Amino acid sequence: MYHKYDAVIVGAGGAGLMAALYASRGVRTAVLTKLYPTRSHTGTAQGGVGAALGNHEEDHPEWHTFDTIKGSDYLADQDAVKTMCYEAVDIVYELEHMGLPFNRTKEGKIAQRPFGGHTNNVTKQPVRRACYAADRTGHMILQTLYQQCIKNNVTFFDEFHVLDLLVEDGTTRGVVALEIATGELHVFHAKAVLFATGGWGKVWSITSNAHTLTGDGPAIALRRGIPLEDMEFFQFHPTGIYKMGILITEGVRGEGGVLINNEGERFMERYAPTIKDLASRDVVSRAIYLEIRAGRGIDGKNYVYLDVRPETVNKYFDLDGKKNPDGTPRRITAADIEAKLPDIADFTRTYLGIDPITQPMPVQPTAHYAMGGIPTDVWARVLIDGKRTVLPGFYAAGEVACVSVHGANRLGTNSLLDINVFGKRAGIDMVRYCRENDFLPLPKEPEAFAREQLESLRSRQDGRERVADIRREMQEMMMEHVGVFREEPGLKQAIDTIKDLQDRYQHIAIDDKGKRFNTDLLEAWELGALLDVAEVTTAAALSRKESRGAHYREDYPKRDDKKWLRHSLALRKDGKIELRYKPVTITEYEPKERVY
Ligand SMILES: Cc1cc2nc3c(=O)[nH]c(=O)nc-3n(C[C@H](O)[C@H](O)[C@H](O)COP(=O)(O)OP(=O)(O)OC[C@H]3O[C@@H](n4cnc5c(N)ncnc54)[C@H](O)[C@@H]3O)c2cc1C
Repeated sequence: MYHKYDAVIVGAGGAGLMAALYASRGVRTAVLTKLYPTRSHTGTAQGGVGAALGNHEEDHPEWHTFDTIKGSDYLADQDAVKTMCYEAVDIVYELEHMGLPFNRTKEGKIAQRPFGGHTNNVTKQPVRRACYAADRTGHMILQTLYQQCIKNNVTFFDEFHVLDLLVEDGTTRGVVALEIATGELHVFHAKAVLFATGGWGKVWSITSNAHTLTGDGPAIALRRGIPLEDMEFFQFHPTGIYKMGILITEGVRGEGGVLINNEGERFMERYAPTIKDLASRDVVSRAIYLEIRAGRGIDGKNYVYLDVRPETVNKYFDLDGKKNPDGTPRRITAADIEAKLPDIADFTRTYLGIDPITQPMPVQPTAHYAMGGIPTDVWARVLIDGKRTVLPGFYAAGEVACVSVHGANRLGTNSLLDINVFGKRAGIDMVRYCRENDFLPLPKEPEAFAREQLESLRSRQDGRERVADIRREMQEMMMEHVGVFREEPGLKQAIDTIKDLQDRYQHIAIDDKGKRFNTDLLEAWELGALLDVAEVTTAAALSRKESRGAHYREDYPKRDDKKWLRHSLALRKDGKIELRYKPVTITEYEPKERVY
């Protein structure tokens, strides 16, 4: 089947929907999504969206900018960070005016809570910058944007799985997608294409990410010769539910929750004396691992406690001298937990049989967020080399993109911000591009490459390998060697294992030979994407011989600005990953050591 739209948006998370809203105001726009839109991962985001509204206390976009750059371990491009943090205030009000039901202060303003790494730049104390709708902020963003898209008659192709990007003579021509219900291939002819396909936490065994986050976007881009930027930087969130990886929002610590080891000690006091449990995620994740390695995990196991019981929290509020704006001592009650963290209370009761009001929660770091991805400028235009050359008509926004606003480590609440700010910018620039350019012809046999990939998966005669086995082996190996701590021998072993798994992938068995709802086939295709992304991540991690943000090399424990203050760009050439580098944009803030 053949379709023609000016703008095609792949992905219906926050980034895709915001872009669709803006693009559809100017040109014919279609959204393709492998999930029903409101099932996108954005809907699971809990804690909040960052913006220096200053509704509780003094705050400034400039402070937000500095915190983001510092949190990024100085790898973020400073012009891009500034764009995001200054546009944050308006985008939050825009969401409010669309009807997003934020929690409120007593005066009726948008309520804000503290989050890791967000500070008052003068006192260095945590500042309340995260705007929240209970612990369902992402759910509310997704629902609000989806309603707006429906109101504005955006055309949706739900459960269409994109397999290929059409590029010819250095310009974008469209995409090829499989309709999951029928198994038919569809060609979408377009002037402009946006990838807003989200992250790839499924590369690791313990992850907060949904099953569908398999790195389709970056894998397709890589196969079409587009480089991937800063892939070695993948964030582990410190507080996933033990063994399950399900996220417990940093909002819990924002409300006063503390991390405790088997000696009952609040150990973050030793690692980050000023900001303690609200240090940035890379710092807290490493601290948890170090505690576990030192034998201070609970019951000698691989977890620590996250404690938000009112008695514990109020004790530490007193010790820390925490006060309300009116000078009275800060307090948290059971009712506050039920009101501000209802989903967390529900998760832990359901999955663990633990009531967070009376019991501490067992947590361990969980693979959470991709800082790297498809390189773009601040208008979400994809850049294909170190000279920032644009690939006309191709855009990327949201977690799949690397602008780079998060550098080596993202601060909490900055992704919900990123998807809105750069989703909007993508939509606006796609309209400009579509108005200035005519449709270019499709390549000959546009669906040939996608068909070939599927046919080769479907028709393997010697199928003896199981998709689930290869996936599990990859995930466990990545957790062990390309996780929070890395070193050369482990990374080399990881490369060999991935090669071996890629060979075995050539012999997988697909049981379902049919066409309709063939999830067996699509899972196999997704595994191919995961393996590609794992390979790039590992190659980039092996090559970066320093520690910065989320990338921690035990054999190179120091940050090395002289050699490594640069972004990596990974390309596949003749079956091998080749790494190139490009400079970091530094405007006002000279790199300093991060101290918490
Ligand atoms: C549990 C959890 C909690 C979080 N909490 C917060 C928070 O409090 N604050 C914060 O700032 N960030 C948070 N994050 C991070 C943030 O939510 C995500 O980074 C962000 O929502 C990603 O949005 P997105 O639009 O880029 O992609 P997603 O919302 O992941 O959407 C991806 C879309 O791409 C589509 N897609 C993917 N592949 C294909 C394909 N091949 N064909 C067609 N469609 C495809 C999917 O159908 C989906 O619609 C959290 C993340 C998780 C996992």
